[in-house]
Parts: sequence; structure tokens; C-alpha cells
Amino acid sequence: MEKAVNTPTVGSSGQIVVAGAGYAGLHVALRLTARLRSHPELELTLVDRHDYHQAITELPRVAGGTRAADAVRIPLQDLLATRVRFVQTEINGFDLPGWRLLTGAGPIGWGRLVLALGSRPNDFAIPGLAERALSVYSASDAEQVWAAVSKALAAAAVATNPERQRRLATVVVGGGGATGVELAGELAEILPKVADRHGLAPDRPAVWLVEAGPTILAGSSPQLIDKATRILSDLGVQVRTNAAIAAATEEGFRLTDGQVVQGGVFVWAGGVKAPELVAGSGLPAGHNGRVKVDRYLRVLDHPEIYVAGDLASVTDPRTGHVLPPLAQVALEEGETVARNLDAELRDKPLEAFTFHDKGFVVSVGTRRGVADVAGITSGGRLAHLLKDAIEWEYRQSVTHLRGWDPVAM
Ligand SMILES: Cc1cc2nc3c(=O)[nH]c(=O)nc-3n(C[C@H](O)[C@H](O)[C@H](O)COP(=O)(O)OP(=O)(O)OC[C@H]3O[C@@H](n4cnc5c(N)ncnc54)[C@H](O)[C@@H]3O)c2cc1C
Repeated sequence: MEKAVNTPTVGSSGQIVVAGAGYAGLHVALRLTARLRSHPELELTLVDRHDYHQAITELPRVAGGTRAADAVRIPLQDLLATRVRFVQTEINGFDLPGWRLLTGAGPIGWGRLVLALGSRPNDFAIPGLAERALSVYSASDAEQVWAAVSKALAAAAVATNPERQRRLATVVVGGGGATGVELAGELAEILPKVADRHGLAPDRPAVWLVEAGPTILAGSSPQLIDKATRILSDLGVQVRTNAAIAAATEEGFRLTDGQVVQGGVFVWAGGVKAPELVAGSGLPAGHNGRVKVDRYLRVLDHPEIYVAGDLASVTDPRTGHVLPPLAQVALEEGETVARNLDAELRDKPLEAFTFHDKGFVVSVGTRRGVADVAGITSGGRLAHLLKDAIEWEYRQSVTHLRGWDPVAM
């Protein structure tokens, strides 16, 4: 493991650089490690601002206080073989003509670059949202949500004015996609216990889920939406659909119809867009600033750069829609990129990316969930166990792939 690059390497052709150690980038690095056995001259460099990989799909549990933030930060040194050079630094820009990443540790030249920098919350330019609402996009973000919720309930417990107490004990989640649903469910289940610990009536906390569209979990089957809605209702979550947020003010989320949803803590889970760094880079931008790629996942007009994960704007030819920002998609794209880099090394034809949907699973609270897998919709304890199993299997797989490194063995 290496902390910084001392000597800038300009466009060195023997260097594969992977920018971002999230779901997509880590997968590329792990998969490629094993394939570099017959190419000892090649350098594989992984760059990330953190020296850990974040299990982002587990963040709702951190926000709900049922999992420690450190438990979702997986040290990269436990995952990477010595064959991989890791550079912990901030990537600040791109020198596209010079084939170099511009980083806090100096320029890093690439022969092939894999961009896997993920995404950031999209506030859709709603006034006040970025300043007044928290987000859940990193372990630290999730930790902050949990801290804010605990603080608001402690303040509610000593509030003498019932109106003020009710407001402080209300958490408002904006965005009824999978992240918003998981977060709202988790909080609704846990807040009565936290309230009790603070001497506040367990039925005092409230969770609101505010969604602009006509339904939560848009794009899912009506059966799945129905099951999720029932579980949320059972947990006491107040779901408001067709409720677009016009502004986040000191009083709360002001909806386009003029109503204000008040609360003590506001969390925004309403969508993502490409990182700012990429927005001004000159790379071709598609949906929400994501980078346009060809069918081999190479940037249009830059065949030396691959993109995988949330950052890639990939249209599914079967639906005509851009694939959603999901870990499942990121992993599959990472797999294709690793295979294509290997194919380039062996002078073989590249493989076009095809998404194989394995299904959709969302936890709703700490014990139940909903799932659409192989055409079967389920809701309840089994779906939650399935989500647990997927997360467990993911952690096993990243550790297992390290074991594949022929140099380390
Ligand atoms: C709360 C939450 C729950 C989710 N649950 C699910 C789920 O259950 N199932 C599912 O399929 N998907 C889920 N997702 C979506 C999933 O997490 C993303 O699609 C996935 O993380 C995308 O992987 P990625 O590799 O593109 O980006 P990321 O995993 O975000 O990785 C990007 C990496 O790039 C690094 N990076 C970014 N910018 C820089 C920079 N300038 N310099 C250095 N390093 C940088 C970051 O540190 C990070 O390590 C969830 C998302 C959220 C927010």
C-alpha cells in the first residue's frame, strides 16, 4: 500500500489506473489482479481519497443507529494484494490530452484509465436543500444523520411546548426511492426505542416520507410497491406522494402546493448526479452529468478511458432507459471493464456490456423488506433476510477475490 505518488508518470503506457475504490472500481482492481499474472511489466494503480471501501448499501443501518459507521468502512489493505499499488489522494481534475489524472499527490499518468468515481446527491437546484437537509452518501453522512436524530429527540424530551416537541421529534425524508424507503423504515422502527431512552413517549417520534411522484419505489412492480407501502404504514411512516418540494426553509420542506412539512431533522434521498469534478472535465455528459460511453463502456471519443458504476451513462437497449445507479449495475460493469482490459492485453475482441438484472430487494425497517426476484414478489421477513444475505455475500466476495491473486498466494 502506498500513500502518495512521488514521481509523476506522464502517459506511461504500462499503467492501468483505476480512479475510485467503490463497488465498480474495487471490483475492476480485484478482478484484474488475477489476470495480470502473465503481464509482470504492467502496473495496476488504484486511487481513492479514502483508505477504505464503503459498503454504501448498508448506510441506512448506520443512519438508524443499528450499525457502527466503522463497520461499513472496509480497510483496502485487507482487500488488495501487493500487486496493486494504492494511492490515497484526492483526484482534482483530468489532463485528457496528456493522459494524466491530476491529484493531490501529483499527476498520475495512465495507459488505460478506469473512471469509477460514483455520484453525489442531486438537489435539483431546490433552494435551501443543500444547506438544510442532510444526505446519506457516506459512512460519515450516515453517522451525522444518526447524531442529528438522537440530538433532536433529546431536545424534544425536554421541550415544554407540545408543538415544539412534536416538531423536534419528527424526521422528514425527501425522496421515496429505495434509499428513502430504507431510511424511513429503519428510523420508524428504531425511534420509539430511542425516545424511550430519553424519557419521551415512544409514540411521540414521527417519520415522514415525501415523494414528488405518484408512487414510492417508482419503476417497481405494483405488487412490490403495495407491499412496501403496507409495511411502511404498519411502522407508522407517513407517506406523502405527489408532493414536490419547492424549497427547504427554516420551518421545513415547503411543497409546491404551499404546505410546509415541519420537522426536527431533514434528510434528502431524492437522487444522484455526477461528481462536480467530472461536470467540468470536457468528458461527454449524458443523463444527470453521467459520462457517455460506447457499448464496451469506453468514453465516446476516448477509447483509452473506461467508465463503470454510477458515473457511467449506459442505456439499456431493451428498455431504452439509462440504467439506474445501483451497486448491482456497478459490479456488472466493473466485471465487463476488467474483462475488456484483459482482452486488450491479449489482443482479443472487446465484449459489449449487457446488464443481467438479478432482481430488486429493499429493506423496510429492521426486520422486514420487499423483493422482486425471478418474477416473484415477496414482502416480509424473508425479503429482509435476502437483503442481509446479499450484503454478507458481497463482503465475502471482495475478500475471496483477493485470494485469487496469484502473486499473493
Ligand atoms: C444509502 C444508499 C443505499 C443504497 N442501497 C443500495 C442497495 O441496496 N442496492 C444497490 O444495488 N444499490 C444501492 N445503492 C446504490 C449504490 O450504493 C451505488 O450505485 C454504488 O455505490 C455505485 O458504485 P460506484 O463504484 O459507482 O461508486 P461508489 O461506490 O460511490 O464509489 C466511488 C468511489 O470514488 C471515490 N471518489 C469519488 N470522488 C473522488 C475524488 N475526487 N478523489 C478520490 N476519490 C474519489 C469515493 O471515495 C468512492 O470510494 C445505495 C445508495 C445509497 C446512497
